[in-house]
Amino acid sequence: MLPTRRLFFEIIAQTSANPIALEIEKASGCWLYSSDGKRYFDLIAGVSVSNIGHNNPVVIKAIKEQLDRHMHIMVYGEFIQKPQVFLAEKLCSLLPGDLDSVYYTNSGSEAVEGAIKLARKYTGRYEIISFINGYHGSTIGALSVMGNETLKRAFRPLMPSVKQVEFNKREAFDEISEATACVVIEPIQAEAGVIMPEKDFLGKLRDKCTETGTLLVFDEIQTGFGRTGKFFAMDHYNVTPDIALFAKSFGGGLPLGAFVSSRKIMKSLCSNPALGHITTFGGHPVSCAAGLASIEYIVENHLTEKAGQAGELFRKYLVHNAIKDIRGTGLLMAFELENAETVKKVVSRCIEKGLVTEWFLFNENSIRISPPLTISESEIEEASRILVESIDEV
Ligand code: PLP
Repeated sequence: MLPTRRLFFEIIAQTSANPIALEIEKASGCWLYSSDGKRYFDLIAGVSVSNIGHNNPVVIKAIKEQLDRHMHIMVYGEFIQKPQVFLAEKLCSLLPGDLDSVYYTNSGSEAVEGAIKLARKYTGRYEIISFINGYHGSTIGALSVMGNETLKRAFRPLMPSVKQVEFNKREAFDEISEATACVVIEPIQAEAGVIMPEKDFLGKLRDKCTETGTLLVFDEIQTGFGRTGKFFAMDHYNVTPDIALFAKSFGGGLPLGAFVSSRKIMKSLCSNPALGHITTFGGHPVSCAAGLASIEYIVENHLTEKAGQAGELFRKYLVHNAIKDIRGTGLLMAFELENAETVKKVVSRCIEKGLVTEWFLFNENSIRISPPLTISESEIEEASRILVESIDEV
């Protein structure tokens, strides 16, 4: 066994018994290059992270320029740092309503934690509603709002007064009351296997939250930045939350997250107590510089519109009678096969043939399609060919 491979299994803490364990030497665009000289088409993009393609030169330039100025200089919120300010200004200009105050974090889970604290502090309430098969991260607060018992059971007791209700079911709204601090929801459920909200579901949820004074929190961590064929998933439905959460592709490939709200709501974190929510590295200047370059690249190169067209092309090329369902929008897609066993075999076969994909955390019958948004038509054709051949061969 190669020394790095052995060390990976020995001293890198493992998250499952069977990691993919490809040793990647470099990455570019939609391609990953392994140390044994093979190349792999990347249909995962780090789970919706590399929207602008791996090692995009525009982002690398922005990172290098910021490195020459400064890296970390002070805990979050004390010094004025241009990359934080410029990125926040850009993000807010793309968001609807009065989502105009940005609190940076290091990750998606931390954005969820921040939103929970903000909602509790602002409303003075502590009950929270979230959705079955929603995924929001692994920290205790995020785990508490996650909608999957298998991942939660071993870590109980979790946060009290949190309840999961069914996605796309109007009866779920009966659980929302004047005692509910916030409702946390992915506008399109990603790890559930890309489940789209039914018409009006999010609009009616918005109405119920407004009626009860409950804050509506959209987790756009996986759906943001062009992935679904609109800049944010909320743009498909014209529904504005009270708090929006971002991470994953937000940092252009570097770690970065945020929870964004109105100035009025966000102000409640500033006093009583002061410093009640702080972070050392949240909004790291290098991550913010990369994030701004990434957003500008998405806008200037119309990647949002291209993601919408690319999704349609996958539907055109990915045709096989073993495919029971294709779900999703833009380049957040899933296709369903007979069962989890078939999915595992197809995924292994794809990797052998030079294409990396996987199933979803809460849907093992479906295969993930979430490549970089820079994917070309010929790459879509090629990826679809490998998928279809792999289905045929297992
Ligand atoms: N929310 C959603 C919808 C996610 O997909 C994820 C990660 O997969 C998270 C939150 C957690 O983000 P992180 O892994 O950066 O903590």
